[in-house]
Amino acid sequence: MIAEIIINSNARVLNRTFDYIVPIQMEKNIKIGTRVFVPFGKGKKIEDGFVIHLKETSEFAKKEIANIIEKESLTEENILLAQLMARKYFCNISDCIKLMLPPGTGGKTLENRAKEKMGHFVFLKKEAEEIQEACYNGRIRSEKHKRVLNFLLENDGIYSPDLEVITEVSFSVLKTLEKNGFIEIIEKPMIRNPFIHKKIVRDIPKILTQEQQKCFDNICVSIENHQYTRNLIYGITGSGKTEIYLQLIDKVLQKGKTAIVLVPEISLTPQMVDRFLARFGENIIAILHSKLSIGERYDEWQKIAMGEAKIVIGARSAIFAPMKNLGIIIIDEEHDMSYKSEMTPRYHAKDIAKYIAEKQQCPLVLGSATPEITTMKMAKDKNIILHTLSKRANQTELPEVQVVDLREELIQGNKSMISLPLQFAIEKNLQNKKQTILFLNRRGYSTFIMCRDCGYVAKCKYCNISLTYHHQEKKLKCHYCGYEIPIIKVCPECGSKRVKYFGTGTQRIEEEVHKLFPTASTIRMDIDTVSKKNSHEEILNQFKNDHKDILIGTQMIVKGHHFPNVTLVGVIAADNGLNMEDYRAVERTFQTLVQVAGRAGREELGKVMIQTYNPDHYAIMYAQRQDYDLFYQTEIELRKMLNYPPFCDIILIRFQGKNLEEIQKVAHKVYQKIDSAANNSMIVYAPVPAPIDKIKNKYRWRMIIKCKVTSKVLNLIQYSIEDAAIQKQKEISIIVDINPNNMS
Ligand code: ADP
Ligand code: ZN
Ligand code: ZN
Repeated sequence: MIAEIIINSNARVLNRTFDYIVPIQMEKNIKIGTRVFVPFGKGKKIEDGFVIHLKETSEFAKKEIANIIEKESLTEENILLAQLMARKYFCNISDCIKLMLPPGTGGKTLENRAKEKMGHFVFLKKEAEEIQEACYNGRIRSEKHKRVLNFLLENDGIYSPDLEVITEVSFSVLKTLEKNGFIEIIEKPMIRNPFIHKKIVRDIPKILTQEQQKCFDNICVSIENHQYTRNLIYGITGSGKTEIYLQLIDKVLQKGKTAIVLVPEISLTPQMVDRFLARFGENIIAILHSKLSIGERYDEWQKIAMGEAKIVIGARSAIFAPMKNLGIIIIDEEHDMSYKSEMTPRYHAKDIAKYIAEKQQCPLVLGSATPEITTMKMAKDKNIILHTLSKRANQTELPEVQVVDLREELIQGNKSMISLPLQFAIEKNLQNKKQTILFLNRRGYSTFIMCRDCGYVAKCKYCNISLTYHHQEKKLKCHYCGYEIPIIKVCPECGSKRVKYFGTGTQRIEEEVHKLFPTASTIRMDIDTVSKKNSHEEILNQFKNDHKDILIGTQMIVKGHHFPNVTLVGVIAADNGLNMEDYRAVERTFQTLVQVAGRAGREELGKVMIQTYNPDHYAIMYAQRQDYDLFYQTEIELRKMLNYPPFCDIILIRFQGKNLEEIQKVAHKVYQKIDSAANNSMIVYAPVPAPIDKIKNKYRWRMIIKCKVTSKVLNLIQYSIEDAAIQKQKEISIIVDINPNNMS
């Protein structure tokens, strides 16, 4: 027997199969999806790979499969999905396979995973930006050191033996990094999954409201009939969507089936998980979260693979959990950007969920208070079943939303970023011992620095982007690559001292709040304050439990949490997102404003104040009224007029590399190939420099195609890229991104 093997590698040239002879004694254990070790290339090199296909003969097969690892094998369905994904997302099959493997086993097999009670854990001691800079500027040269630090950036606090196996370094390497001050190694008891740590009081299903019941009954029919349906639960915050999910899952369990629940990473908090634990207990729930150590994630994965876990709750990649006998897939906050991967493979979890639900013949349930425009369009076109919840389940009122025109403030001579009406409201809230949240989508102190005399703007040395001033450290930082320099007092171009700071970030707002309300206690939450010592969770708990008066934060504060004592939410600058060239900028502004407003007064009547220079913009107007339907109607008309999704797809092809001339050449070649073969339903735009045309010393060009993605289109792009760029593979990376989150 001959097996076609795909090698586990992201090298583009290895994105093909290789034929191997299956030794007789292995024949009965080998099938499509089996993980194998094979001799590869010259010498004794062994690579791992997966069986893609089995056949009787081959003229190429010379070598035998060395070994099979049954425990880490995939199913035939996995392989099929990986093949489809590789084609659709322009990546290697093995890139897709990695998502389906137990965490931490993507590279080598994890053995020696220690079982003792105490263990060494490795923590980063420096900020991410400093580490990236050190790796970049040559302060850290060793590949091993870089590997460890880069891995830690994503997996801080990992169990040391896991780290050693995964990054293939010895403990002494870690010791050196510790000596140099980059990491610390701490001996700690091996804790269990932090999301399952306390005794939870069990609760019972609530009696559903009429609206909830109707939605529940309808989806139950699909569960009963083992039938694939696509559903959208469109219900304002607090309308009881989660309660419906819980009861649907209960139904699924009664039928002996299992459930996958996806939530945005940032909403996946212990509080959120508690609601599931309270209903179903911890034994049958597995949680997949990036905050877990690799070891913990591996354990959760095993719990699923062994069939112990009947419910998986996780972020985007949990859609690949090895669930058997699936009865429902639920995607909460379906409009959230985090469901689209920004790394290879650039998949969208909603597309994968649809594929799996269809295969498994089970319902797919999407839920949101502000569904993605594309999803709502499908609902209106009856391609998705729409369930509407129009009332809050616990009878609280939606908050009152007031818009403050910042232009008026300027006319009246108030230069503060906190308008007088907002100042009054904060004052009143402080008097009443109520809490306030101030939201601003920009971290740092000020967003750019310019010389008043010659117009010089401080920019990053490696990226074409202005530097952000960070007040506490007195530094100017690049938010893209971490490059930083000390604060500038004198213009380096003309020597003028009239160097001014423009734009407002969270640090500046915090300072202003201290000036205006000297006795108020504040707490700030943005990437700069969220480090390991002060996690997300801890900051929010501190705000809630220590009764800080004012929380100032970026996007991070928007989701998931429930603050009973917050009765005022202030949006400092609602327009920040509106001017971006992204076609979804307006949609996101609207979603964010509605979500932020949802933070106020979940129990008591609250107030929301939106500060803006564009009070007449429809996103702001309809956010004020919390009127999604009107927003949708306006937005969909515009999308139609401008031919944007859902009326077509946007395909972005990005070219990156150090040699600008080569990039231009390759980009134009690809463009010509595609353009000359395009039919008239495709709009192909010529390549141009990306809005941020240099990041980390790499130039960036992009071209855009507007059309419906079909297999013909995919083929054309694939062929054009390969043809134009085949010799330039090493110097130029070409990324194809379909409906990207980020157009820059
Ligand atoms: P959503 O997920 O839409 O934001 P939740 O399911 O979290 O809404 O419900 C909001 C609040 O209302 C929660 O405290 C929940 O326990 C409560 N709730 C939901 N459904 C009911 C119901 N049928 N009866 C009473 N309370 C309910
Ligand atoms: Zn100057
Ligand atoms: Zn930079």
